[in-house]
Amino acid sequence: MMMPYRPEAFTDFSAAAEESRLQEALKRVNLQLGEDYPLMIGGKTIETKRRIVSVNPSDYKQVVGTVLMADTPLAEQAIQTAHAAFPAWSAVSTETRADCLFRAAAELRRRKHEFSAWLMVEAGKVRVEADVETAEAIDFLEYYGRQMLQLAQRGERELTGMSGERNRLDYLGLGVGIVIAPWNFPLAILAGMTTAALVAGNTVIVKPSSLTPVIAVKFVELLIQAGIPAEAVQLVPGSGREIGDYLAAHPLTRFISFTGSKEVGLYLHELSSRMAPGQRWLKRFVGELGGKDAIIVDRDADLEQAAQGIVTSAFGFSGQKCSACSRAIVHSDVYDAVLERCSELADGLKVGNVQDFTCSTGPVINQSAYDSIGGYIDIARTEGRITAGGGPAEGDGWYIRPTVVADADPGSRIMQEEIFGPVLAVAKAHDFEHALRIANDSDYGLTGSVYTRSRVHIERARQAFAVGNLYINRKCTGAIVGVHPFGGFNMSGTDSKAGGPDYLLLFTQPKLTSERL
Ligand code: GLU
Repeated sequence: MMMPYRPEAFTDFSAAAEESRLQEALKRVNLQLGEDYPLMIGGKTIETKRRIVSVNPSDYKQVVGTVLMADTPLAEQAIQTAHAAFPAWSAVSTETRADCLFRAAAELRRRKHEFSAWLMVEAGKVRVEADVETAEAIDFLEYYGRQMLQLAQRGERELTGMSGERNRLDYLGLGVGIVIAPWNFPLAILAGMTTAALVAGNTVIVKPSSLTPVIAVKFVELLIQAGIPAEAVQLVPGSGREIGDYLAAHPLTRFISFTGSKEVGLYLHELSSRMAPGQRWLKRFVGELGGKDAIIVDRDADLEQAAQGIVTSAFGFSGQKCSACSRAIVHSDVYDAVLERCSELADGLKVGNVQDFTCSTGPVINQSAYDSIGGYIDIARTEGRITAGGGPAEGDGWYIRPTVVADADPGSRIMQEEIFGPVLAVAKAHDFEHALRIANDSDYGLTGSVYTRSRVHIERARQAFAVGNLYINRKCTGAIVGVHPFGGFNMSGTDSKAGGPDYLLLFTQPKLTSERL
């Protein structure tokens, strides 16, 4: 008997026992820092010279681990292996493939704090953000396993019957998929993209972000231990420009599943549309690309709730989520009050090493993010008025203070460009329609929130706020698998709705068989 899907509960760290379990896990992970991780192609260990050194963004002198890098010939070997493994893996029954995901979920649940500890040291997540991410990874495994079991039955259930015939629709895997995963959810998004493709019967090559390869090694090891053949899921760390491009352009690649920046996404989209010599299909491109997400505060909103929601959405994980609020658009009647409260809350956030549990937010991911965000703060000084933060915070990590910029013009760079850091621009709107126009004045369309008490305005936002995920009277981050399918409009990607009932269809091709009886 299979339990129905329920999202994994988040850990209550106010319970002393949970806190000490996480401490224990952190201690064990800290003892493993600096280890070397070999490259595995088709389950065989390969020695290479080039390596990726992963460092702790909370303490950039600390090496998290060293991961061997693949080059082009090894990427070729991986894709040939994945291609050769496809017939056998796609012929494995749906139930068996789903069971691999359920087993992996159970193991990840047992090792929850250990994985969260790796997220803390490698991605710089505070414990609550790390715990939520590990829970999301478990959810993807549990959810996609069940979704695949349902999809396998859907073909018979939903066809119209015809006497004298037996008709069925089978949802088959496509072939070799390339998963290019981001560093901001290096466990959950990598897990979701990889296991959706696998459970649907595809073989997968995973290219992790070079900023977070160790957690990827740990997760792929777990999948293999759970029964997925090493030929069907191969982790290929390496340079995006070198092996990412090579794999995406390869004639044996059947689809590319990407989460990352708009620039790289557009490039991969273009690459995937070019026919390589010998290629026999149209490649599919599934992309989740970014956001410039807005929260609208209406004149009658609960202002405290709105300010809390804005600050959580803007500064959780230092604003490094595609879903993060980077624009607050506030009705002029309540503008000063909301701005003041948001600035006060932002100033109250303690920034520092995530292993210090009193810190509410950690570092940004690396030097280049730090420099780029610093550049935007300089721009903000000329485009608006800084009312909180506005520069670096103390410490040996990439620390930036949560920054609030008031009086931003809708067309300004800080209102238009994705900063991907702890910078919130605040703009004034003279009425609700004006607020919606400002919110929609963006190339992106991922998440958005509206704080209002007006039912008419809620309905208006449902109709006119051009985002894939619209939230009312709540924060715009923290989508839960199965509850809030996630994906955006326009330049935010293909609106693929990860964690939703349509996601697996992207990785399958339905085949009709009609038999005359
Ligand atoms: N799904 C996450 C959320 O709802 C964001 C994912 C991302 O940043 O790519 O907050």
